[in-house]
Amino acid sequence: MGGTYQVRIELSFASGHRLLEHKGKCVFPHGHTYTAEIWVASQVLSDLGFVVDFTELKEKLGGWIEDNWDHSFLVSSADEEMLGALRAVRGSRVFVFPDENPSAEVMARVLHQRARDLCGVEPLKVRVWESPTQYAEFHGVDPGGSRLGR
Ligand SMILES: [Zn+2]
Repeated sequence: MGGTYQVRIELSFASGHRLLEHKGKCVFPHGHTYTAEIWVASQVLSDLGFVVDFTELKEKLGGWIEDNWDHSFLVSSADEEMLGALRAVRGSRVFVFPDENPSAEVMARVLHQRARDLCGVEPLKVRVWESPTQYAEFHGVDPGGSRLGR
């Protein structure tokens, strides 16, 4: 029988950031309570009847977010002024994006990659909500077959 299964997990975290050279107010240091949604699709199920093990995905990806992004300041490596300021504050947590602004788009792409690296899962898409009214998505290449056990 044809068809595709699709599952979604949701992870929340709080981070500070600013967008270097943004013409509007995103250039100011500020924070968001982000929500990340990870969709995984498959045409086949595992022996347990899963597209993906929710618990494993949540633990691994959620753990990575907790260790790297949650209650951290997200900053571009090009933002030397902000990096210097953050490093002067003892106990501040900083996550550096190499030569890219920590936009919701970039964050979605990074999470997509982390899901692959940490969980062996190729998400259909990753959506990062920056506020209740705006999000950005990164889409994987092929929404077709199984991503399990690669
Ligand atoms: Zn922002």
